[in-house]
Amino acid sequence: MYSEDVIKIIHAMPKVELHLHLEGAFTLESLYELIGKYGGDPDIQDIEDLKHKFVFTSINHFVKIWYWKSRFYREPADLEDMAFSTILNLSRKNIVYAEVFFSPWDFVKPEMSFNAVTEAMISGVRRAERECPIRIGLIADLIRNQGHQTVDKRLDEITPYRNDVIGLGLGGSEKEYPAEWFTNAFQEGKRRGFRIVAHAGEAAGADSIWSTLKNLQAERIGHGVRSLEDLKLIEYLKSNQIPLEVCVNSNLKTKIFPSLNDHPVRRLFDQGLLITINSDDPTMFGMDLNDEFVLLFNEYKFTLPEIRLLTENAIRASFAENSFKAQLIQTVEEFWDHINYSNGGIVK
Ligand SMILES: [Zn+2]
Repeated sequence: MYSEDVIKIIHAMPKVELHLHLEGAFTLESLYELIGKYGGDPDIQDIEDLKHKFVFTSINHFVKIWYWKSRFYREPADLEDMAFSTILNLSRKNIVYAEVFFSPWDFVKPEMSFNAVTEAMISGVRRAERECPIRIGLIADLIRNQGHQTVDKRLDEITPYRNDVIGLGLGGSEKEYPAEWFTNAFQEGKRRGFRIVAHAGEAAGADSIWSTLKNLQAERIGHGVRSLEDLKLIEYLKSNQIPLEVCVNSNLKTKIFPSLNDHPVRRLFDQGLLITINSDDPTMFGMDLNDEFVLLFNEYKFTLPEIRLLTENAIRASFAENSFKAQLIQTVEEFWDHINYSNGGIVK
């Protein structure tokens, strides 16, 4: 099998993604339109300029451009469109189910209330689901950087949307704001029926993952790639099959691992951990879920059967109800039944 054939299969295969931030997955076209709507920006003459703008040079630069783009979302319709076009774009890449973080608080301002922002984003997501073959589970990212009192307050604000929001996440600076500070909000969130996931083991090490599991009772770990620093933790994750949401390209771009060779994705997989593959902030990183799998194939020598297994892992690890999981497994089976990968997708 030739490399181009494998890439075609990766693009065509039905995919599931569990770690994706809505605000980092916007389409450049939709943002370009918004910039025009609000009078333009002298530095952005075309989509290429915009693409260039998002090539970030450091974490501080990343945060700076993140906030730069946020200022173009000024009314609920802008957020509805952003959510709609983002999900439509995922569907075009043959993603059939995604659990998507969103953080409405980023956009709240005096003229745009929390409820208006939240409802606009939910409405854009639901419209996309009606128009294309994709289903979305929304997870509210409460973000740790404003401290535990803010997170408590955010839990109360998002609770009335429990029918539309299946889970709670915790992004932000893991080192400066450790998981245990947020124990109350997450235990209370669980009581209110939310599923629990949190970023851990990315900027901080194994202790952060232990604390996230113990104190927040997280069902999945966002990233978790530094778990290899503690063999006991590896054993625990493996025997309990706790899913890790691995985002290889994101880790390389943010320099969690300095080079391709340093990234542990292959080791985590080979040790029998339940890992899933995700794109995190695809537009910010200039890559998408297809590129992640191509990277696994080209650089980490994942075969097609292994790539299929990673998709099945994502289905198993998802918060979808069992009947829908069974449906997704069937969709995956039907696709792969038609693919001849007798040599394991090994390039001749
Ligand atoms: Zn993330």
